[in-house]
Amino acid sequence: MSIAENLARVQANIARAAESAGRDPKEILLVGATKMNDAARVQEAIAAGLRCCGENRVQELLEKNGAGAYAGADLHFIGTLQKNKVKYLVGLVSLIHSVDSEALMREIGRQSEKRGIVQDILLEVNTGGETSKSGFAPAEVAGALEKAASVAGIRVRGLMTIPPICRAPEENIPYFRLLRQLFIDNGEKKYDNIRMDFMSMGMSGDYEAAVACGANIVRVGTAIFGQRNYSA
Ligand SMILES: *Cc1c(COP(=O)(O)O)cnc(C)c1O
Repeated sequence: MSIAENLARVQANIARAAESAGRDPKEILLVGATKMNDAARVQEAIAAGLRCCGENRVQELLEKNGAGAYAGADLHFIGTLQKNKVKYLVGLVSLIHSVDSEALMREIGRQSEKRGIVQDILLEVNTGGETSKSGFAPAEVAGALEKAASVAGIRVRGLMTIPPICRAPEENIPYFRLLRQLFIDNGEKKYDNIRMDFMSMGMSGDYEAAVACGANIVRVGTAIFGQRNYSA
């Protein structure tokens, strides 16, 4: 299957999942997880209609950006982010999905203020409570939002999660529902720089289940680009 065919299938699946949930497919943003795909393949996806790319490593993002990989599309950062790399991303990506600590919020704010901009971010939530995963614990989300309210240069736009690896898509539904509940519970807060617009959840194996649970951003790599070759 070509990238264009894969993309069309994923878009059709998202539309079907949205319609079955009584939602407008247009409210769901498909982020193509482009890691380990070179600039030419990313451009192929954009030519086929991909509107937004998500990278998860800063070095790879910068190299591919230099090669024009993302021309014609929006760019998000979706991976674990170290504080010392923040300066390369701020202002270059329109949304950072993976903010998992107060220190990271503050560094993003500091770099944004230097550039006179406001960086949109999502808070990552460790819905599965896995020690191997980053993200705020569900019980920490309200406190993290309160902290974020006092950080200039950032605007929180919602929540993101990467649930535990599951064998069947339905197994992730409890984690998706938990993120949705946190999204609702914390949506009422009236802080100037917090607007709960986005729930980023769902990947190749479970994006339809995520859409059924309310996701309005899904991050899909393999189902568009095929298996990544980690041995190359
Ligand atoms: C790679 C990646 C994805 C997409 O994973 P697939 O299973 O290939 O769809 C989604 N989110 C993040 C944070 C990723 O790093």
